Amino acid sequence: MAYDVIVIGGGPAGLSAAVNVRARGRSVLVISNPMEENPLWKAELVDNYLGLPGLSGAELLERFRAHAEQAGAEFRTGRVLNALAVGDDWYVSIGADVESAKAVVLAAGVARARKFPGEAEFLGKGVSYCATCDGMLYRNRPVAVLGYSANAPQEAEFLRSIGCTVSYFDKPKKCEIQGGDKAERVICDGEAAEVDCVFLLRPTLAPTDVFPGIALENGYVGVDRSMATNLPGVFAAGDCTGLPLQVSKAVGDGLTAGQSAAKYVAGLAKRQ
Ligand SMILES: Cc1cc2nc3c(=O)[nH]c(=O)nc-3n(C[C@H](O)[C@H](O)[C@H](O)COP(=O)(O)OP(=O)(O)OC[C@H]3O[C@@H](n4cnc5c(N)ncnc54)[C@H](O)[C@@H]3O)c2cc1C
Repeated sequence: MAYDVIVIGGGPAGLSAAVNVRARGRSVLVISNPMEENPLWKAELVDNYLGLPGLSGAELLERFRAHAEQAGAEFRTGRVLNALAVGDDWYVSIGADVESAKAVVLAAGVARARKFPGEAEFLGKGVSYCATCDGMLYRNRPVAVLGYSANAPQEAEFLRSIGCTVSYFDKPKKCEIQGGDKAERVICDGEAAEVDCVFLLRPTLAPTDVFPGIALENGYVGVDRSMATNLPGVFAAGDCTGLPLQVSKAVGDGLTAGQSAAKYVAGLAKRQ
């Protein structure tokens, strides 16, 4: 099904955007990793969110999510890999599946991991961010999984089920990918494996990996006062747009981005 708006990220910014898209009468799909993987989930106490002091991060997230559900937002658990514009539509890939919408709100928080040496060089040439999408290309061959996301063990199991010999590295700190025309070897925390593909399974991706061509400012997604990015139909909100990295700011950004996305969709409808 095609939606008016897709929100990437189910944290405070994304859920606020979803509530405000629904308040404008538009359909919205929130695609996010499981809530337990949200960084705020671990906060024992959030004492500076207006009107709701004394709640844990998990309690606050559950309230935000319940509000978005009541408002009629739809949800899908998964990791967004990339987004592609075709005409006025955005196609967003989640593993091997695709969802589409007229506008997208990127609310994916901060991508904390730096790229490893060789990662960008061999991306698509023996480095992949998704085992279920690219695994079949490496059927019956030696591969490595660098597991950071909660579902990484399942993705490794899938690779084994199609005959791959899997070297599994659990949350390695330091890795390097080496090779010639394509990746041939990965070395993680001093341990080496000769492989045909390295599956790097992080919960989050850099905004520039999801949206090739999106403009950054000081390492964050660049936005104007309507939370519009440089890409038509793409808005951003919350930590991914910069400091302060706080819930109240994320919720406010989400409101603006949600309203702007709904307005953008209404503008497209008038043109047609
Ligand atoms: C331990 C801790 C304590 C904190 N305490 C406070 C506090 O007391 N007060 C305060 O104001 N702030 C606090 N913060 C900061 C607060 O958590 C953030 O500012 C806030 O969560 C940002 O909201 P967001 O929606 O922008 O991003 P996030 O909350 O990070 O949400 C982004 C979501 O998108 C998901 N995601 C990312 N990429 C993808 C992808 N490619 N596909 C699918 N899903 C994706 C992520 O998994 C995550 O669930 C704390 C943070 C931590 C870590």
